[in-house]
Amino acid sequence: MATKRDYYDVLGASKDASASELKKAYRKLALKYHPDKNPDDAKAEEQFKELGEAYEALSDEDKRAAYDRYGHAAFENGGGGGGGGFGGGGGFHDASDIFSQVFGGGGGFEDLFGGGGGRRRRKPSGRQPGSDLRYDLEISLEEAAEGIQKELEIEKLEACDSCNSSGSKSGNGRSTCTTCGGHGVVTRQGGIFIQQIECPACHGSGQTISDPCSDCSGEGRKTETSRIKINIPAGVDDGTRLRSTGNGDAGMRGGQPGDLYVFLHIKKHEIFERDGDDLFCEVPMPFSTAALGGELEVPTLEGRSSIKVPAGTQGGTTFRLRNRGIKDLRTGGKGDLHIEVQVEVPTKLNSEQKDKLTEFSESIGEENNPMQESFFEKAKKFFGA
Ligand SMILES: [Zn+2]
Ligand SMILES: [Zn+2]
Repeated sequence: MATKRDYYDVLGASKDASASELKKAYRKLALKYHPDKNPDDAKAEEQFKELGEAYEALSDEDKRAAYDRYGHAAFENGGGGGGGGFGGGGGFHDASDIFSQVFGGGGGFEDLFGGGGGRRRRKPSGRQPGSDLRYDLEISLEEAAEGIQKELEIEKLEACDSCNSSGSKSGNGRSTCTTCGGHGVVTRQGGIFIQQIECPACHGSGQTISDPCSDCSGEGRKTETSRIKINIPAGVDDGTRLRSTGNGDAGMRGGQPGDLYVFLHIKKHEIFERDGDDLFCEVPMPFSTAALGGELEVPTLEGRSSIKVPAGTQGGTTFRLRNRGIKDLRTGGKGDLHIEVQVEVPTKLNSEQKDKLTEFSESIGEENNPMQESFFEKAKKFFGA
């Protein structure tokens, strides 16, 4: 690895080149060195691979920053403390992606290769990126409102410590697969078509290992139960997706790890309903309070509170408590809590209470029931009387 050329030199770009300048430089050289334009030219092929590797590193902001600081050491095994710091799958560019853009799928070289899978080219190191993973996590409304740190227990592929992710017991047993010359694919003539299939000798990795590590069978990674801490910010909602960079599956033989995507689900709350940043709650209110007015105890996410109910409050009236809702994930502002009061009618009256209510009913007459009054006004019009 010591003889590796500088990535900027490989691309013929300056250290302060912009992303689009790098892309331009890459495309130009990729066209020049593409193996299909240079059949049986081992040197061009080597340059093409080198180019892909250089571009892959420099086109990713995080990886470029790491390379600028540490040089090639940034991408060696263990150089980045398990690689956790180097962005993730999101910024990963496969050389073939750019290539299909260059040719726009318009009957270029790709047609030779049958399915799209045939265009995948392995990196000469045999490294392959790890898969992104999905984890579904259910949390309470209170946790969503306040934010919380959770520790997840996940079965996933982790870098193998025994072989330092190399897959080789001694660390030196890796060599380029002679069957496919490191491509990971071999071509097969089927009638007039040329097909590419995964190399049976190296299973697509482009490498063979003479002394495979017994802990990971030469993969450089193995399944383990991992504990991963994730910080859930205040204000997340049902369906919010969090990305934990580099916490997906470890890459094969030291390749980039994938990312972990945590999909959040909020448990249904017993009291509160949520709509965006606002909370809704129905609270029963004694009918005497409705008529006379008074204090009514109401729940909030932070605990008990109370509201002043004016005399003559009808059932179904909504009171708004400002800033007692949920914090907005982006703006940091808080939603409101809407309390809808439900007038409760007593069900078990003793005879004394019944008498009092009858007395009350007779005393109040018909003039003091505003809803009833306006209702019968409308009803009169309806019946035409
Ligand atoms: Zn191993
Ligand atoms: Zn092979």
